[in-house]
Amino acid sequence: MDLLEYQGKQLFARHGLRVSDGEAVTTVDDAVAAANRVGYPVVVKAQVLIGGRGKAGGVKLANDEAQAREHAQNILGMNIKGHTVRTLWIEHASDIATEYYASVLLDRSAKQPLVIFSVEGGVEIEQVAEQSPEKLIRRHVDALKGLSRQQAVEIATEGGAEEDVIEGVADALSALYEVWSSEDALLAEINPLIVTPDREVKALDAKVTLDGNALYRHPENQGLSDSENEDPIERAAKEQGVQYVALDGDIGILGNGAGLVMSTLDVVAQAGGRPANFLDAGGGSDAGKIKQAVELILSNDAVTAVLFNIFGGITRCDEVAKGLIEAFAALEPEVPFVVRLDGTNDVQGRELLQQAALGNVYAAKTMNEAAEKVVALAAGRSIEDTPAGASAGAGAGA
Ligand code: GDP
Ligand code: MN
Repeated sequence: MDLLEYQGKQLFARHGLRVSDGEAVTTVDDAVAAANRVGYPVVVKAQVLIGGRGKAGGVKLANDEAQAREHAQNILGMNIKGHTVRTLWIEHASDIATEYYASVLLDRSAKQPLVIFSVEGGVEIEQVAEQSPEKLIRRHVDALKGLSRQQAVEIATEGGAEEDVIEGVADALSALYEVWSSEDALLAEINPLIVTPDREVKALDAKVTLDGNALYRHPENQGLSDSENEDPIERAAKEQGVQYVALDGDIGILGNGAGLVMSTLDVVAQAGGRPANFLDAGGGSDAGKIKQAVELILSNDAVTAVLFNIFGGITRCDEVAKGLIEAFAALEPEVPFVVRLDGTNDVQGRELLQQAALGNVYAAKTMNEAAEKVVALAAGRSIEDTPAGASAGAGAGA
């Protein structure tokens, strides 16, 4: 879960990392009022989940109210690499003597946290890594011990921080590591980490990615997601406790178990189709959950056919069939469904579907057959057999 700059700075401040005072606003009038309170000069900053805002014109200094209003007007609604600016962060402007770079991230290949520091901040760090890798210091940290004071000082020193700010940079690195570990972040990055003319070290920017799987341990962070930019169906799914990922195709997919859903995406792609989503209804799904899942899939207008792939274990196929029948009664979907039920109570499940005589539900025996059928239906082609409910024999997929 990526945080906006100002949200990242709030986490920084909580762990003693220095940041400028500011306010987040969503209108021009509020931006001006915030600027007046914060005190000029101020920086007006676009809050979007993408880097390079400065270059794109999304970060501007304002020396008075008129400039603050002008910048707020220009930046609100601006499109930065596909991200529309809906929120501004107004902070008191800092004087900059030097710009450094600092980050802590999870190095998956080494299975350890990695601290990166460079005195070449303010520019894109990939560029520094490419053109002058010697200006980038990288140090792994023992996750159980954490970043020691000695190690933080070493990183600052060996990285080339100016003598008189070594302690200040070490403080910043320690606080950044604290943010990373205690907030369960995957990335905590500051670019630039500045030194002011008064030799104060502070974070002028913040890029923080929290581990979504660890969010349950941080109820105070759960409201931080950029819900305005989140896919509305993904948000609804999250609220219902269903694993749903929006994709850009036209075939709705529902399975039980992440592995099965992933394989289903693969066979659909192999059959020439494009999945519209990943939806894992989970183990032990009852009729109610299946109905919710169908609602989620159908709320995506791009869906022209749906593939149900259920492998019954703990999940009982008759429950799935009941859920599907309830969903059809409630939603009366027009798009065709291909259903493959296999495993616990599959015979009963198929019987229920036949009895319900749902006009646009087709049965399939195997995953490949299901994929081929759904791809044909999504493309508007008719398929050979009749819908499962239309004749007594057609649904018998055993
Ligand atoms: P990014 O372009 O998305 O990385 O946004 P940043 O927050 O890093 O801002 C871009 C650049 O604007 C920084 O590298 C600074 O050079 C400049 N900048 C941001 N805040 C201030 C400030 O308070 N004072 C000054 N003088 N420059 C700033
Ligand atoms: Mn930056």
